[in-house]
Amino acid sequence: MSTTSTARASSDPPPTPVTRLDAMTEPSIFTRILRGDIPAEIVGETENAFAIRDIAPQAPVHLLVIPKTEQYRNVVELAAGDPDLLTEVIGLANTVASEHADGDFRLIFNTGAGAGQTVFHVHAHVLAGGLNEKSLGG
Ligand code: AMP
Repeated sequence: MSTTSTARASSDPPPTPVTRLDAMTEPSIFTRILRGDIPAEIVGETENAFAIRDIAPQAPVHLLVIPKTEQYRNVVELAAGDPDLLTEVIGLANTVASEHADGDFRLIFNTGAGAGQTVFHVHAHVLAGGLNEKSLGG
């Protein structure tokens, strides 16, 4: 009895490799910054989060505070999945706002493309140093 009914003949084309979906997903721009693949000014860090200067500032001081993991796409997912990490992000925002401005700051999490989110790796915008209402837009 043959046990090779599913074996390929040598003339068959090779099978299509099975590729895991997550292996096809590009790391986010913030993960690439964290890895050092893309330059950025890192202004603060905790065990699980880091802060950089935004490349297109919308306020005199415009920093981003970012969890090191990119598993949460927005603040709603982060709050539900890891509230301690959200607390750590807010604590780092407070620290960098004190170091780069007078400690008063506006914290914005754009949530969804319709709200202006362009990077789906959750991050907080820290706006400080003299704000006007336009800076509500992140
Ligand atoms: P959002 O539109 O809320 O997703 O915010 C993404 C933010 O990332 C924007 O304010 C961008 O200016 C900022 N950004 C994108 N690329 C870089 C980069 N290479 N370095 C620093 N900030 C960046």
